[in-house]
Amino acid sequence: MSKPTKTRFAPSPTGFLHVGSLRTALYAYLFAKNTKGQFLLRIEDTDQARKVEGAVEGLFTALKQFGLNWDNKKPMVQSQRLEIYQKAAEKLVKEDKAYYCFCTKERLDEMRKNQQKNGLPPMYDGHCCKLDSKDVEKNIKNKMPYVIRFKMPNSGTTEFTDLVRDKVKFDNKLLDDPIILKSDGFPTYHLANIIDDHEMKISHVIRGEEWLPSTPKHIAIYKAFGWNIPKYAHLPLLLNPDKSKLSKRQGDVAVEDYLQKGYLPQALLNFVLLLGWNPKTDQEVFSMDEMIKIFDLKKVNKAGAVFDTQKLDWLNGHYLREKKPAEFAKLCQPFFDNAGIKTNLKQLEKIVVTEQQRIKKLDEIVEATAFFFEPPQYEAKLLIWKKLTSKEVENNLKTLIDKLEKLSENKFNQKDLEPEIIKLIKKERIGVGDMLWPMRVALSGKKNSPGPFEIAGALGKKETISRIKKAIEIL
Ligand code: GLU
Repeated sequence: MSKPTKTRFAPSPTGFLHVGSLRTALYAYLFAKNTKGQFLLRIEDTDQARKVEGAVEGLFTALKQFGLNWDNKKPMVQSQRLEIYQKAAEKLVKEDKAYYCFCTKERLDEMRKNQQKNGLPPMYDGHCCKLDSKDVEKNIKNKMPYVIRFKMPNSGTTEFTDLVRDKVKFDNKLLDDPIILKSDGFPTYHLANIIDDHEMKISHVIRGEEWLPSTPKHIAIYKAFGWNIPKYAHLPLLLNPDKSKLSKRQGDVAVEDYLQKGYLPQALLNFVLLLGWNPKTDQEVFSMDEMIKIFDLKKVNKAGAVFDTQKLDWLNGHYLREKKPAEFAKLCQPFFDNAGIKTNLKQLEKIVVTEQQRIKKLDEIVEATAFFFEPPQYEAKLLIWKKLTSKEVENNLKTLIDKLEKLSENKFNQKDLEPEIIKLIKKERIGVGDMLWPMRVALSGKKNSPGPFEIAGALGKKETISRIKKAIEIL
């Protein structure tokens, strides 16, 4: 067993949890728990412009729903730690590792335009790095707004071993001096992230690949403070089936949207586990304990992971089928509530189990079982089985009604009905379909539906007989 590790999930509260972030959180959680280590939570809310009311609470709720419980009871919140970052930035300025930058937006725009024109990469030109201390003092006295920029080394390379991507190398002269403190006194991601990971003693930083280009800057900042550098693992991007980056435009990326459609948290978690991670066995369904036991960063792919909703549907279907009938009914009920259909759980259980084997997500249940709540409309010819005449179908249904009327209400369940009706079919010397097809259509109005006994059981004696009578009428 390796040494206990410490990981963290550091979301920015944007108002929803991205499926990619759910994967990041899960991997960080599994990695820490696999070593009996700790998984910590930190809220990176330094971008005031992107602040969303209630987003932080939403994140807490979402993570708990997935069982991704963090070990720091009170998550760290960056906006409550401004002074710490400000002091650290000033310290770097004093040590000549960072500098005040007074460049106006106009100057920066102009600079970028020129760079573009000359085919140069867009990056800060180091203008204010050259200011002497007298100019800086004067500007500050004149209350000129400023940011603090970190002085990146401008030659050599930054190299490190990423636990997913192996050796990574960056050319330092292509990296500009990042802003670490903004003019509103808030730190940027770069500064706050390093200070906090250091303070939280994070051993492994597990995050999305989009942060890979920031990593050499982070490493330089660690070095400037003289701190140990954590190990990094950058997870592959999530892709649409056409290999483009998974984005909001092409479909849902918010975990909340998936839950709302009736994907179960276990299914989503199991699904994101397999996004870019391969157990190298045939197993596809994993409990949380199993995930923890076998998770290994070495099995994370470098290439982007395609978000395959068919796989998600399959997994969700699997988890739905595993639910006990009563629990399944409870999960279905809110979808009926939303559709304005009043239900009682006991009755609902009988209805929804008829579709439990078939549906892939809970939001399909209302439509799939609509015919239980309202007598179905269908054309008479749907009642005709193969080469039978209407008259023969009518006779078979009449025989059926005679039999059903003699059965007591408590026989109206699949288990008891089936042998009774099969006996009747044998006695009448007719084919099974001759009676069961029109019976099923009379009850469901559909070409494809659950079996006739299941439906009759859920409808009860009165409604079953009334629907068969109606079929006879329209024949
Ligand atoms: N706040 C960043 C995000 O939301 C965190 C990146 C990191 O883990 O360093 O993705």
